[in-house]
Amino acid sequence: MDLLEYQGKELFARHDVPVPSGKVAHDVKAAVEAAEEIGYPCVVKAQVLIGGRGKAGGIKVAGDRAEAEAAAEAILGMDITGPHGEGPFTVHQVWIEEASDIESEYYFSFILDRSTKKVLAMLSTTGGMDVEAIAEEDPDALAKVHIDPGKGFDVAAAKELASEAGIPAEFQDKTAELISKLHDGFGAEDATLIEVNPLIVTVEGDVIALDAKVTIDNSALYRHEELAELEDDSLDDPQEQMAHEKNLTYVKLDGDIGILGNGAGLCMSTLDVVAQAGGDPANFLDAGGGSKADAVVDALEVITSDQKVKAILFNIFGGITRCDEVAKGIIEATERLDLKHPLVVRLDGTNSEEGLKLLAEAGLDNLHQEKTMLGAAEKVVELAKAAG
Ligand code: GDP
Ligand code: MN
Repeated sequence: MDLLEYQGKELFARHDVPVPSGKVAHDVKAAVEAAEEIGYPCVVKAQVLIGGRGKAGGIKVAGDRAEAEAAAEAILGMDITGPHGEGPFTVHQVWIEEASDIESEYYFSFILDRSTKKVLAMLSTTGGMDVEAIAEEDPDALAKVHIDPGKGFDVAAAKELASEAGIPAEFQDKTAELISKLHDGFGAEDATLIEVNPLIVTVEGDVIALDAKVTIDNSALYRHEELAELEDDSLDDPQEQMAHEKNLTYVKLDGDIGILGNGAGLCMSTLDVVAQAGGDPANFLDAGGGSKADAVVDALEVITSDQKVKAILFNIFGGITRCDEVAKGIIEATERLDLKHPLVVRLDGTNSEEGLKLLAEAGLDNLHQEKTMLGAAEKVVELAKAAG
């Protein structure tokens, strides 16, 4: 799970890593109040899960109240595309922080290097640039060290890295101290990535983290209650939120054909076949192996809560999943949710005959059975068009 910049900075602060103080705001009024409290100059920063916000116009320095208001108005609601074409992401919140007087900008990161099974620390005096660009244009400028998990990364080890990176002698101690604290945070919070770009030296000679990119290992979220809560907040899409609560693997897409399959591979091919048949999938939903009736009801609830959905395709290949269980779920959900959407069902594999028989006996007017995946895709596209 990726943290927003301000969530990363809050995590840093918990581990005594120096960061500018600031406040998060969801609307212009709150942003102006925050700016007034922080004082001027302050910086208004878009909170989205991508870098390159500065270049995209998502970061503005404000010298007074009017400028803070104008910056918040411009940034909130803005769409930002990442430097590698990610997104676009709409800005729903801004972080307002005291402006820093920058003397130098450095690049720093810890990443979990899976090939060596060690944490890799990288430091460079060429801050502000992304690390791929540094690695390409000036690889020697990047000081690197793989951290021996038995030894850890104390201030002395961090100072060696700082010296190797060519950080001026007078700033090496403060830089090393910050990096070592960051390392404590990396371990304690089960992070797999921490990137600080830029890590700055201020005109006053302080070393602080000006940006924060943090990824937490999802498998460890159970032991970080406060981080797990952030995850819920980060899902601003109502369907994704609902799916998350019901423990379903769901990704919202733009189209009008709801899709439910079992197994990620089958779901992916179902999306492809629907697209091939000329349709637009509304979602990816993997009901998982061993889908029971209740799981199907949950899944249909999520799919149909998306107003764009006009027809639904079930593509189930029974292995561990029993087709009769899925059929029971479809029938139950149709009754419980009073479903009127056209449903196309392709059941194959374990207990498919029993499943198909149950569906036939239920006599649902809006339900269509198809034998093949392509046939089912063509049928659902036709029904969605007719419904539109
Ligand atoms: P990113 O573009 O998404 O990586 O956002 P950053 O937080 O890294 O900010 C981009 C750039 O904006 C930084 O490299 C700085 O040059 C500049 N910037 C951010 N905050 C401040 C600040 O407080 N003062 C000044 N002078 N510049 C800032
Ligand atoms: Mn940055």
